Amino acid sequence: MANRWRIPKDVEENVRKRDSKCVYCGVIFSNENNSRKDKPSWEHIVNDIRINEIFNIALCCMSCNASKGSKLLEDWLESDYCKKKEITINSVDEVVKMALKNPPKMNNK
Ligand SMILES: [Zn+2]
Repeated sequence: MANRWRIPKDVEENVRKRDSKCVYCGVIFSNENNSRKDKPSWEHIVNDIRINEIFNIALCCMSCNASKGSKLLEDWLESDYCKKKEITINSVDEVVKMALKNPPKMNNK
């Protein structure tokens, strides 16, 4: 999966260390293989796969990932899914708050 998104190895490792729970709903990832919904999935906070730096890459649970899909973060936070799960701008992980305040952009190297 990391290769599919072309996430650099060092970013992948740092994100794995940082995110032990879903950055959106806060569910703690399980290492057991029997529960698919607690498995982490790779998420681009801003839906631009070219921005694969640590401030735009996060781990979230399968259900948040499926719900968010290609929606804008701001729009998704207004969705029924987020309302039901009580996911708000204030409840999300620090990295998501940062992305809302200061959306990651491509840096033209
Ligand atoms: Zn989640």
